[in-house]
Order: sequence, then C-alpha cells, then structure tokens
Amino acid sequence: MNIVDNIEKIVQSLSVVNHKVELVAATKTRTIDEVQLAMSSKLIAASGENRVQELLSKYDDSITWDFIGQLQTNKVKYIIDKVRLIHSVDRYSLAKTIDKEAKKNNKVQDVLVQINAGKEESKGGIFLEDIHAFLDEIAYFENIQIRGVMAVVPLDYDDDQLKRTFDKVYAKYSQLKTNTFSYLSMGMSNDYLIAVESGANLIRLGRAIFGQRG
Ligand SMILES: *Cc1c(COP(=O)(O)O)cnc(C)c1O
Repeated sequence: MNIVDNIEKIVQSLSVVNHKVELVAATKTRTIDEVQLAMSSKLIAASGENRVQELLSKYDDSITWDFIGQLQTNKVKYIIDKVRLIHSVDRYSLAKTIDKEAKKNNKVQDVLVQINAGKEESKGGIFLEDIHAFLDEIAYFENIQIRGVMAVVPLDYDDDQLKRTFDKVYAKYSQLKTNTFSYLSMGMSNDYLIAVESGANLIRLGRAIFGQRG
C-alpha cells in the first residue's frame, strides 16, 4: 500500500458523512519525502507537526504546515511565520505569546483551543466546562483568530466512550460555532470514523496514512 492510495481510501471512507472533512497529515517521525508524497495527493490540507525542532528541520515553504503538539512559549517565535493553524492553545500564557509574536510578524495567527475531553492530568487542554471562561480571557488578543477547538481523548477509551465524548465536545462546539469559529478538530487513525460521525470537520491522521511509526 502506498501513501497516496491510503489517503484516497480514507477520503472514500469519509463519504459516510454529509459534511466536509479536512485532513491534516500527522507527520511526526516521517521524512520530508513522505510528507511530499502525502501532499502530492492534493487531498491533505496541511502537514501537522508536533515538535518545533522537527518542523524546522523539515520546513519547506511549498508545504502548508500546522502545529498540533504541545507548544512551549519560548519556541513560538521560531514557527510563527511558518504555520497556518496552531491546534494546541491550552493556556493563557501561550495565547499571549502567540499574539505578541504574530504582531511582530504583521500576522493574525489562526489557532484552535485544545480541549482535554477526558480530563487526563497527563495531557494539556482546557476542560469542557471551562472553555467559555478561557475564550473570554483570550478574546481580546488582536493578533489571534480563534478558529475552533481541537479535542484530545484518552487512548484507552472503547468505542462507546469515544462516541459519548465526541458527542459532548460537538455539543459544546455547536454552541460556540460562528462563521470563523468553525473548526472541530478531533479524530486520529483509530477513531476518526467515530469522530466524523459526531461532527468532526478536521481529522489528524498519522498511521492511517503512513503506516506504523518505526
Ligand atoms: C500523532 C498525532 C496524531 C495522529 O496519530 P495517529 O494515531 O498516528 O493517527 C494526531 N494528533 C496529534 C496531536 C498527534 O500527536
């Protein structure tokens, strides 16, 4: 199986839902050649990287890059001019730094607020019940545009728990949705079909596209 075939199969499998779903390739550990191949399908909106150093080492301005991993405030400056969308805004200090660095670059940075949907202590993200307060806190930053939410869910959830959790996130997202707050990023290789059935319109796929990570 090759990368482009995998992507075409994934896109076909998404026809079970009636809404548009954007694909972000989760490209950690993959080579730039693998990333280029994925992008050559023309079906991938962006390459999503988890680590600043890895993004910088692969960076090529012919590719659209997203940042999907935990982001340290002191590293924002290295990626601010290189990324379309930062999926992982999970604290005030990070939003403030992104705003400041975006301003320096004469840019309004699109971001998603990361939701910790299973309330896992080991993971970053805002709890669902705290999202309104968090959005109020960061709303006044002029060089950030909040484009929606990105949900992370526990790896050990079964399908029923996943469905219930994705539905809860969707319910909150649909209360908040506007013309610009319109991304619901949830679903990875193991659970993206459940996520899109709950209304996800952006999915982040690594192994389903590239195979197991070595
Ligand atoms: C690795 C990763 C993914 C994709 O995971 P797969 O299971 O390989 O599809 C999605 N989102 C984030 C934040 C990741 O780090």
